[in-house]
Amino acid sequence: MFIETPTNPQMQEADILELSDVAKRHNLLLIVDNTFYTPLIQQPLKEGAHIVIHSATKYLGGHNDLVAGLIATNDETIAEKLFNIQNGIGMTLGAFDSWLLVRGMKTLALRMKKHEENARSVSQFLAEHSLIKEVLYPGRGGMLSFRVTSSDLVDPVLRKLQLITFAESLGGVESLMTYPSVQTHADVPKEVRQQIGIDDCLMRMSCGIENAEDLIEDLRQAFQVER
Ligand SMILES: *Cc1c(COP(=O)(O)O)cnc(C)c1O
Repeated sequence: MFIETPTNPQMQEADILELSDVAKRHNLLLIVDNTFYTPLIQQPLKEGAHIVIHSATKYLGGHNDLVAGLIATNDETIAEKLFNIQNGIGMTLGAFDSWLLVRGMKTLALRMKKHEENARSVSQFLAEHSLIKEVLYPGRGGMLSFRVTSSDLVDPVLRKLQLITFAESLGGVESLMTYPSVQTHADVPKEVRQQIGIDDCLMRMSCGIENAEDLIEDLRQAFQVER
């Protein structure tokens, strides 16, 4: 069983402990993508997951300057298999990228605190805004999504953003805004997107570590659009 929690971009949390029971009953491995929460917020191995994966490109690296991934397990047999695959096909990180990642991780705890603080402030601001229908924020971490009242708002708002960058990635010190239906989830068929709620009004924001008031001010001016 392969899950991500919270889900991207709907931000729905799954109960890892409960799912690990299901996995055990059916003799399956539970693999959890922990990219959004990082080990500081969520430790799936402690809740019964067998394998945890991270896109280290995101919070672990933290500076939008690296592409990396990592796999963690507390099962020796799985670890040995993974090591043999990596050793056999050379699928390992280069020296400079490894150094960037180690250096980024030194400030992970500080960054996560600020990402979360900013996400809380931004989600409060958005929840009270008349052009926002719904804010999807689980109350932890630095990622949030929201629905605008009309898809006509998306283009002008994205064009007006100044501090926040319109870009796909997440988890770095700079705040990024994504439009999932045409960017990250464009390869999901339209019917499936609609079913799972990735509609044309859904936007996703990765809150960076900027001053929260500057982020809110940028959103405030971007949403002052002619209608
Ligand atoms: C970005 C991302 C990935 C893919 O990671 P890359 O580092 O871009 O290969 C996988 N899972 C989640 C949740 C992500 O955000």
